[in-house]
Amino acid sequence: MLNLLSSFFGTPSSRFLKANQAFPGAVKAFEAGFKAKSDAELAAVTIALRTKIQQGSGLEDVKAEAFAAVREAAFRALGLRAFDVQLLGGLALHGGQIAEMKTGEGKTLVATFAAYLNALEGKGVHVVTVNDYLAKRDAAWMGGVFEKLGLTTAAIYHGQSPEERKAAYMADVTYATNNELGFDYLRDHMVLHPSQLVQRPLHFAIVDEVDSILIDEARTPLIISGPTDDQTQLYLAVDGLIPQLTEGAEADYELDTKQRSASLTDAGVDKAEHYLQEKGLLPVGESIYDIHHITLVHHINQALRAHTLYRKDAEYIVKPNAEGVPEVVLIDEFTGRMMAGRRLSDGLHQAIEAKEGVPVQQENQTMASITFQNFFRLYPKLAGMTGTAATEAEEFENIYSLPTIVIPTNVPVARTDSADIIYPSKKGKLKAIVADIADCHKRGQPVLVGTTTIERSEELALALAEANIPHQVLNARFHEQEAQIIAQAGRQGAVTIATNMAGRGTDIKLGGNLELLLAEAQDAQGAAKIKAAHAAEHAEVMAAGGLKVLGTERHESRRIDNQLRGRSGRQGDVGASVFYLSMQDDLIKRFVPNIEGLLSKLNVPDDEAVQMGIVSKSIENAQNKIEALNFDLRKNILKYDEVLNDQRKVIYDQRMQVLHAENLAETIVGFRHDVLENLTAQAFPADALPEQWQPQLLDDGLKMWFGLELPLQDWLKEADVGASSVVERCRAAVDAAWAEKTASLPPEVLRSIEKSVVLQTLDRLWRHHLQGLDFLRKGIGLRGYAQKDPLNEYGKESFVLFEEMLGQIKRESIGLLARVQLVQEPAPPVPAPANLVQVAEEAAQRTLKKPQAPKGPAKQVKPKPRKR
Ligand code: ADP
Ligand code: MG
Repeated sequence: MLNLLSSFFGTPSSRFLKANQAFPGAVKAFEAGFKAKSDAELAAVTIALRTKIQQGSGLEDVKAEAFAAVREAAFRALGLRAFDVQLLGGLALHGGQIAEMKTGEGKTLVATFAAYLNALEGKGVHVVTVNDYLAKRDAAWMGGVFEKLGLTTAAIYHGQSPEERKAAYMADVTYATNNELGFDYLRDHMVLHPSQLVQRPLHFAIVDEVDSILIDEARTPLIISGPTDDQTQLYLAVDGLIPQLTEGAEADYELDTKQRSASLTDAGVDKAEHYLQEKGLLPVGESIYDIHHITLVHHINQALRAHTLYRKDAEYIVKPNAEGVPEVVLIDEFTGRMMAGRRLSDGLHQAIEAKEGVPVQQENQTMASITFQNFFRLYPKLAGMTGTAATEAEEFENIYSLPTIVIPTNVPVARTDSADIIYPSKKGKLKAIVADIADCHKRGQPVLVGTTTIERSEELALALAEANIPHQVLNARFHEQEAQIIAQAGRQGAVTIATNMAGRGTDIKLGGNLELLLAEAQDAQGAAKIKAAHAAEHAEVMAAGGLKVLGTERHESRRIDNQLRGRSGRQGDVGASVFYLSMQDDLIKRFVPNIEGLLSKLNVPDDEAVQMGIVSKSIENAQNKIEALNFDLRKNILKYDEVLNDQRKVIYDQRMQVLHAENLAETIVGFRHDVLENLTAQAFPADALPEQWQPQLLDDGLKMWFGLELPLQDWLKEADVGASSVVERCRAAVDAAWAEKTASLPPEVLRSIEKSVVLQTLDRLWRHHLQGLDFLRKGIGLRGYAQKDPLNEYGKESFVLFEEMLGQIKRESIGLLARVQLVQEPAPPVPAPANLVQVAEEAAQRTLKKPQAPKGPAKQVKPKPRKR
């Protein structure tokens, strides 16, 4: 259907190219005039354009002129005159689209066109890179272009202070990784004073290697974690319940040793509720299965597991640590060794600690998190570029509303792509690969070898070493060093093995990278020599056939294969690519299952290759299937994440408002009255008869949240006094109490106390809520929802939890303000919560390393104690 339609209406790419046919000409029209300008006059173009925009011109009206200015500036700063296809690429980015442009087409420069045009609005533009090295490299490289136009450029990278970040975000164009941008965004929603914010509101982002960032990394959320509030009491209390429960006939709980899980029976639930109500952990009349007690259920289950499935001296031992404090150390089930420092997650370790009566250590919890998907969707305008987007066009369109525009290459691609060569066994394949590489190396043709895993890389490196073939291995650990190796991968006879070429951001030039080689030159004479040698080497490499890309396996995704292939044949260079496969490759074994039988029938010797159309076809089908599967997975994660995302938007939005508010007095009055109204509604339900009233609820609430004891009962006994006048009196009383309490305080002190109480309460309850959602999500599949859709149920229940949290934020803010002792004292110069941000940052850095980074030593995050 899609194909049929696109043949009628053209693809987005062909439509785009047709619609903008005349654009390069429009840019060129400015060229002679701009060439005649002095540097100062060229920089003045920016001022003129900004003035036009302020006077109401749209970016559309000035885009040709702006692009011409960038082209001239780049020529002066870098000595490069942008090709017409680069202008079109820049235009595609400006249109909020993905520009698919092959490796070596000069995308770094392409981005500057759209960045400049959009930076004219003065709200900042972010160019997103895959690593810090590239952020610094590109900012330095392109900074010269922007400077010629009077714009500022900066890079954000790991290790910068908040002040440095803030300054970098003030630049017209800021280069940064997705991680840094995302973490700064999260941290900005944890600060307690507007002066601590580092980012401006998000405006426009151009994501380089967009497939790597928005697809490959989309499933990894950014997480800032920190220690939880102290829950020792809860663990101990729940622990006390377990010995009262029985297993067996009429049991209180059921064990599933295979699944390593335990759960309460109905009888067990009754007992547990009774017990928890006695302990004051569960309000009388409520069930642990009410969703707002979801944490209790979780802790009970963990305690049950701790008591039934984890045995002392089998699964763990108790031994004193270096300071002599006893702790629970896990034992490896297979080796019997102690696994010092390893902790079970989700409160299980704490439950065992409670069981053994050793100090309960704090757990880490998520303080803030966001997926890249949701982070980048926060930008009002988004664009991306990469060599390989077309295979994922549907996902970009569906999830990010980003159309993919395939920009033609500057010079036609001259690379020859051979058909796959397939061997019966891995062994035969490896032999053939080594022979092919040896041949290239001998003839001086550089080879880039792609593998799918680091192990395979090492295996191959070993085989090459045995064959005496010098080679370099890349494994994505040291970005800068790798960039140097990649830059030299096109030298005569070079052999370079890479695990994954996606998102490397350095292109391979035949005969080596001249700029890099020239860095060695001592003087002009030396430079001339190097240039001559480079030219000769370049010619020889061309004669040997250019860069050869040799794939040793097919990747699950065609896109990654294309990334590898695309490293050869840049800017019309000669080149070649070929994939060697074997019937024993994982992908083929898993997805082309009938292959083995086919092969034994053919009776092909191990070291003889076959080229069968049916195999190539099956592999492509398999890749298609896997891609679709992964897309579904990401979509599903996104659906769950959407629920949290909507709530995060609301909370972050409100938080920003509170943070920037001059005066929260009215908000606080609103809180107070809302809380009171809620209590009243419970005590005197609208349609209840006076004998059904429960004034006790109001009485309790007034004590709890307002610190007030009012003679409700007396008032109710007075003649002619109905519920409504009692409510009136309560309202007057709470307002009076607050007025009296705050009378002697200067307004600015009061304002800052109100603000910090609301912010900190909101933060604490939001963190708690995040944890609740986590439990909810984990538990949702386990609870027997008959025919119900778990996502739906999750959505509904999390909404209830969210509403409840909003109410609780009001209650607890009011409660704290009522109890806090308000004394006037000079405000500390640094806002107390600075340390919170710092700890969060440290935690972030730990998390940053890898999705499941081992949890670092717990650090205590405690806002400075409030005065009581
Ligand atoms: P990509 O990101 O598309 O792979 P890069 O931005 O890394 O490409 O650029 C690759 C190389 O092409 C760089 O060495 C750059 O200097 C060069 N280059 C870019 N634009 C031009 C141009 N218009 N003319 C000549 N060389 C260019
Ligand atoms: Mg690049």
